[in-house]
Amino acid sequence: MGAQQKIAIVGAGLGGAAAATLLQQAGFDVTVYEQSPEFSRLGAGIHVGPNVMKVFRRMGLEQPLEQMGSHPDFWHSRDGLSGDYLSRIPLGEFARREYGAAYVTVHRGDMHDLQINSIAPGTLQFGKKLETIVDEGDQVRLTFTDGSQATADIVIGADGIHSKIREELLGAEAPIYSGWVAHRALIRGENLVRHADVFEPCVKWWTDDRHMMVYHTTAKRDEYYFVTGVPHEAWDFQGNYVDSSQEEMLAAFEGYHPTVQKLIRSTEDITKWPLRNRNPLPLWSRGRLVLLGDACHPMKPHMAQGAGMAIEDAAMLTRCLQETGLTDYRTAFELYEANRKERASRVQAVSNANTFLRTQEDPAWVYGYDVYAQPLKSGVAA
Ligand code: FAD
Repeated sequence: MGAQQKIAIVGAGLGGAAAATLLQQAGFDVTVYEQSPEFSRLGAGIHVGPNVMKVFRRMGLEQPLEQMGSHPDFWHSRDGLSGDYLSRIPLGEFARREYGAAYVTVHRGDMHDLQINSIAPGTLQFGKKLETIVDEGDQVRLTFTDGSQATADIVIGADGIHSKIREELLGAEAPIYSGWVAHRALIRGENLVRHADVFEPCVKWWTDDRHMMVYHTTAKRDEYYFVTGVPHEAWDFQGNYVDSSQEEMLAAFEGYHPTVQKLIRSTEDITKWPLRNRNPLPLWSRGRLVLLGDACHPMKPHMAQGAGMAIEDAAMLTRCLQETGLTDYRTAFELYEANRKERASRVQAVSNANTFLRTQEDPAWVYGYDVYAQPLKSGVAA
């Protein structure tokens, strides 16, 4: 037998990092190429549902993630004006019992750091921005903007919403600007204790065209985070995000409940992000190239499941490659799409519609899912 076949992953975000760890644990030879020179602890939180915690369990990272995150007992939805409760979705012990794992909210940078440190030493290369990719038939050649090249037997495009690999498969097409932005801010605990108020561990404030989602990002609950969805006609700024301000937010949430006003007034820095998405793609792979996560099915973030879908993709793709072996990657890619597309597209649609958990619905279809417990459906073209 010749040299071991190689897998290249482009992008070490939340999905690419999960794929690297899971594939390496399964014995594959994996190298990850990431454009950033390094990662920093950007100011943002993330929800990790029980469906995603089951994949962290498989990676051996469930305990550290549980220890670093906050464990809300409920997801509360409240009317943004009156404060009336619209839903109280049980999490906490209920989630462990009913869905098979914890529900955690955590700082995105802390979680990502945990993931990056679980990739085998020496197999993640920073500063490698993919410029061109050529499927040569018997291998794939990657060329990076620094002039260096690499080859691999298959390439996983985990390179996010602006994916170069999606572009190679389907042609250049900018993602769709949704008409909404997200404001994001981390609030230090000491800025909140000044207020005589109750700041719930996980609460979404809603009115018809906008919302604010709020939760803790640390186990000590000394950091509180909000992320909004607010209509914004056009995104005509350069870059991934721009600075916002208390004034802008107070205007956007004028008339909202006093607790929301206090949160806005407690912020030090606020940023503003465009919310973009794409329609479901007609194909997820071609030849030796395959997509996962936001490269494949980006969505507005309102179900807090975008990274969850990327991480579930990573788990299913690993499972399919284990099933077929790397030589039969074509069958693995067909199996992968057949077993992911329906769920990822459904989550994408519900997330874009921003209806999830606004009323007292049952989220078992999202949180109860276990990517490892699903019988594999045939990969015959969908
Ligand atoms: P990314 O995390 O975007 O990673 C892509 C990586 O590829 C990056 O590291 C990038 O630098 C790299 N890359 C890009 N191009 C190249 C190239 N040419 N060469 C080399 N490397 C490249 N999801 C949740 O599950 N829960 C939440 O609570 C949640 N909240 C969110 C809030 C907001 C405001 C937003 C915008 C999103 C939120 N999401 C949430 C969604 C989540 O962030 C994404 O779905 C997730 O990051 C997708 O992971 P990914 O690995 O596919 O892509």
